[in-house]
Amino acid sequence: DTTPISATDLEAGRRAHELDRAHVFHSWQAQALFQPMTVLAASGSYVWDGDGNRLIDLSSQLVNTNIGHQHPAVVAAIQEQAGRLCTVAPQHVNDARSEAARLITELTPAGLDRVFFTNGGADAVEHAIRMARLHTGRTKVLSAYRSYHGGTQLAVNVTGDPRRFANDYSAEGVVHFMPAYTYRSYFGSTTEEEETERALRHLEDLIVLEGPTNIAALILETIPGTAGIYLPPPGYLAGVRELTHRFGIVLIADEVMAGFGRSGAWFAFDHWDLEPDLVAFAKGVNSGYVPLGGVAIRDEIAATFDERAYPGGLTYSGHPLACAAAVATITAMREEGMVDNAARLGREVIGPRLREIAERHPSVGDVRGLGCFWAVELVKNRETREPLAPYGGSSPAMTELTAALRTGGVLPFVNFNRVHVVPPLNIPDDDLHAGLDVLDEALSVADAHVG
Ligand code: PMP
Repeated sequence: DTTPISATDLEAGRRAHELDRAHVFHSWQAQALFQPMTVLAASGSYVWDGDGNRLIDLSSQLVNTNIGHQHPAVVAAIQEQAGRLCTVAPQHVNDARSEAARLITELTPAGLDRVFFTNGGADAVEHAIRMARLHTGRTKVLSAYRSYHGGTQLAVNVTGDPRRFANDYSAEGVVHFMPAYTYRSYFGSTTEEEETERALRHLEDLIVLEGPTNIAALILETIPGTAGIYLPPPGYLAGVRELTHRFGIVLIADEVMAGFGRSGAWFAFDHWDLEPDLVAFAKGVNSGYVPLGGVAIRDEIAATFDERAYPGGLTYSGHPLACAAAVATITAMREEGMVDNAARLGREVIGPRLREIAERHPSVGDVRGLGCFWAVELVKNRETREPLAPYGGSSPAMTELTAALRTGGVLPFVNFNRVHVVPPLNIPDDDLHAGLDVLDEALSVADAHVG
């Protein structure tokens, strides 16, 4: 394939890498041990690494670039906005924010008619929790284990994955519950029906034991993303909605990763007709072209702050460049039918191919997902389901598998014992097939570790 990478680009990339190692402090990493990959360029579903190799981006950059890289309409919208008005204080009306809010509330359930914009997902989660607490006058927040809600102080405490342990526990009132996760059921369930019933009974007991009148909010990822793209079993979300209604608890759906078409619906909760009270979003809202997140707010909760000030804010709440990118992204997704395309790719390509791949590779314990949102869960043994890397850690097998994917020409999203297949929603079918061919071949590396 023709590469857009010149010798000068390669040289600039080497220099950038040196400067990165000298001066950049990275998220989540042991700074001296980390070996970051350079990205020199990106287009559609491709990225080019520091050596000029073209990789098929099956990661969408942390499940972010739902419309692919460098979508011309979105790039043009950002340029147009930059030529007109780059930034403005959040108390002033700006047309990009007004229009973005209108478009987003067209997509959210009826009765969620207002949007508070943030800089990303973690602060969206934090503001959603703050709104729920102020609205209810209660303090406690229930959150699922095996979840990810962000890296800021409260968001990481709400998160239910091992990264929380290394942080301080200064957040008060956060209580975790066991999620419904049939493949590794905490309740000993063998069927989805059993899992739904037992997980809901556990949640109801927890609410009663924690004191319903103390609980402000229950937050969950409609489809947990970073924690493994495990789908809620039938009836689970309806049961959670019933419990939260019964006990006057605000239900926050964290759609930061699952939202904006990723699962083959605008929001993942659309698959189960769930109507949450607050929706935290980020990433896909503008495909991450400019940082943006937000909270869509149920009218009754917004009304709490009609006569009384909302005690929170951000300099960049509704940044014009970010909102112009959101308007152009949502418009392009609609015009190009990307959400339906994501649903088709999941149904006709990713699902069938991963299931077929699973049959031939003993290291594959489970495959699951919807739309362009899939996980391949790797195990040492299919019977015991012992994971190929510990939860929160890595293993030589997973490191070798990641390297084999890269060598084969795929940029994967690998997390603990899972490979996530999360391409842009508009990836051409041929590229998707080519990426899955590479995965198929690379999995033999993992098979060698099956005992
Ligand atoms: N919630 C979910 C479900 C996420 O996947 C993420 C990011 N991966 C966040 C919150 C945090 O978003 P950000 O990194 O933009 O703060």
